[in-house]
Amino acid sequence: MHTRLVPVLPRHYAALTRTRFLPQFNITNPTPSDKTCDSCPNQTTCPRSRTRHVSVKDDGTYDVVIVGGGCVGASIARELTKYNLSILLLESADDVTQGATKGNSGIVHAGFDDKPGSVRAKYCWPGNQILVLAKTKEERKVLDDLMERGRKNGVQRLKILEGKSVFEIEPFCNPNTIAALHSPDAGNLIPYEFAIAMAENAADNGAEVRIRRTVSAIEATDAGFEVTADHWEPKSYAKTMHGSEATVPEPEVNDSKAVPAAVIAALGAAGAGFLKSQPQFTDEMAMGVAAAALVLALIVFLSSSAKPNRVQGEGKAKDSRKPVGTGGSRVSVDEMMVGGSGSMSANDGVVVGTEKIKFIVNAAGGGSDKISAMIGDDSFTIKPRLGDYLLLNREQGYLAKHTLFPCPDPVLGKGVLVQTTLWGNLILGPTARDTYLKDKMDMTDEDVQKFILSKCKDLVPDFDSKQVIHGFVGARAKNSTGDWIIEESKVNSNFIQAAGIDSPGLAGSPAIAVEVVRLLQKNGLSKAKTKNFNPNRAPIITPKDGWKGIKAGPVGKFTDPKVNVICKCEKVTEHEVITALRRSLPIDSTQGIRKRTRAGMGHCQGDAENYNCECRVADVIARENGYGKKEEVGRRPWPATSTLPQRWLEESEKENLVELAKK
Ligand SMILES: Cc1cc2nc3c(=O)[nH]c(=O)nc-3n(C[C@H](O)[C@H](O)[C@H](O)COP(=O)(O)OP(=O)(O)OC[C@H]3O[C@@H](n4cnc5c(N)ncnc54)[C@H](O)[C@@H]3O)c2cc1C
Repeated sequence: MHTRLVPVLPRHYAALTRTRFLPQFNITNPTPSDKTCDSCPNQTTCPRSRTRHVSVKDDGTYDVVIVGGGCVGASIARELTKYNLSILLLESADDVTQGATKGNSGIVHAGFDDKPGSVRAKYCWPGNQILVLAKTKEERKVLDDLMERGRKNGVQRLKILEGKSVFEIEPFCNPNTIAALHSPDAGNLIPYEFAIAMAENAADNGAEVRIRRTVSAIEATDAGFEVTADHWEPKSYAKTMHGSEATVPEPEVNDSKAVPAAVIAALGAAGAGFLKSQPQFTDEMAMGVAAAALVLALIVFLSSSAKPNRVQGEGKAKDSRKPVGTGGSRVSVDEMMVGGSGSMSANDGVVVGTEKIKFIVNAAGGGSDKISAMIGDDSFTIKPRLGDYLLLNREQGYLAKHTLFPCPDPVLGKGVLVQTTLWGNLILGPTARDTYLKDKMDMTDEDVQKFILSKCKDLVPDFDSKQVIHGFVGARAKNSTGDWIIEESKVNSNFIQAAGIDSPGLAGSPAIAVEVVRLLQKNGLSKAKTKNFNPNRAPIITPKDGWKGIKAGPVGKFTDPKVNVICKCEKVTEHEVITALRRSLPIDSTQGIRKRTRAGMGHCQGDAENYNCECRVADVIARENGYGKKEEVGRRPWPATSTLPQRWLEESEKENLVELAKK
């Protein structure tokens, strides 16, 4: 997207400058809708978990409500803002793009492996380059099949490279490669940045976005639909909400941990009493035993009475590594369907209210079968297929110039690939683990890592497994029909399905959006275009020239936000964090900033003992959003979907990955 700088602050930003929360320096902003929300005129800060502007019509309805803020829902929202309409996007997670859209390979597929005639083939092609490597005569034949499929699907400029010509363009690929299918028209992108850009541009053009809203019921009415959504917030924040109906349960007392602590303390006291009665032991020695038992009991109690499943995240680097490395819970497959690491349970959330809204498009990805069933359309079910990845440090990115694929598997799809992301990291994966297959779900973290590393060594033998910095999982929304569902529901033609969009849905999302708008218009949605649609969005991240002009140091040392570095590994400045926060989408979590600025994306993954960037980011969010306490800022939970033992790996853990990579 192109850069556009707007010198004038829009109305609600101007209102914000009157508060003490906005430092006085210039940030350029795009122009969102100037229709500001009047539901809270007396508040000094903007409402949380939603855009500051609203799009609702005077009669209290919207023309279209989109359920799901992945790449599909965001693209549909943006496409709709080209017309004179009121649009609302509801997302269950704590940000847009927290579903399948954040956990994938980011390839804008060329469309050569989609079955000709399928819905996938229709929407994928209308999109850096791909090489599919063949190492045997059988695989060489598969390349011919893919060429033929590509031809039928209208994919252009495909060619097969033989022998040495492969190494001329990809010198580090497996030396046993005999040929490769070259697709120059494919590309890759950072999927979550794409979806954020689409959603933000939609909001800039007037669409209203609410996050942390899980749609829980839909009722057909004479005028359309009535949609009910549960609004949740992290408990830490909900406790601060005045007059809310939130029911915030008290933290559980973990009795199972208090008992052993009490037993140790009692045994210590009894032991001390016994020793004191023996002539060879002094009072001091007995006291020493009692004190040691007490300390031990205290350690057992404290280690166990911490909330068992959650990472709360405190602010100081001298705190234990817990907030950023260990101790949280794994995100379940069910949670992945409604926002993964941004979901209610991953964020220790609690429902704080419900709201009723009219009209609907179903773009709920892994949750789309449930949304469809809410209107009585149970024509499909989602059968999630997990895809695990390992991400390597940027220094490994030189090893792959193209996206390198093996020959595809007829059942498991495109296979495990090696590619360099746009930010220069080497990415390995994904797996294809169907959640209904026990053996796939029984795989241990090490099994998964071994699978990925060994398969990728087959494509590029020279990468360094010690350079793994991150692991994550995405869930493909495979569905029981075997193809994408882009149509009016057979139960109600005003309910449009953009459902069950598995790979390559990212590549297809702009074309899917155009089709969904066509279907809505066919059913009576206004076709009147707006003259004000602005397709552009200014970038958030500014290019750096090494450390020229920017400085990293203790909190508070550098006061110019353009100079002050918040994340050392990725050289993210405070200015970039503030820029993101003043954009039109709601951001009240460190995850949201991570995806927009890369703060916490580097090799230390936000480790408290390194530069503690997650806490620095939380400080800025709390200040900018006007929260009383940093604790109200949503944190990035751990381990969420990672298979790694902790965020910043120890040397022995890295050595283990090297062993796993050996077949
Ligand atoms: C491992 C893997 C690799 C992939 N590789 C590629 C690739 O290289 N190229 C490509 O083009 N595609 C790829 N894909 C596919 C691509 O990621 C998906 O097709 C695309 O992200 C689907 O977007 P979506 O918006 O439909 O779904 P999602 O991104 O899952 O968005 C749906 C949203 O709906 C929300 N939601 C669910 N239920 C509710 C509810 N009740 N109320 C409110 N909100 C709700 C969820 O929280 C979620 O944010 C891959 C997918 C995976 C998992």
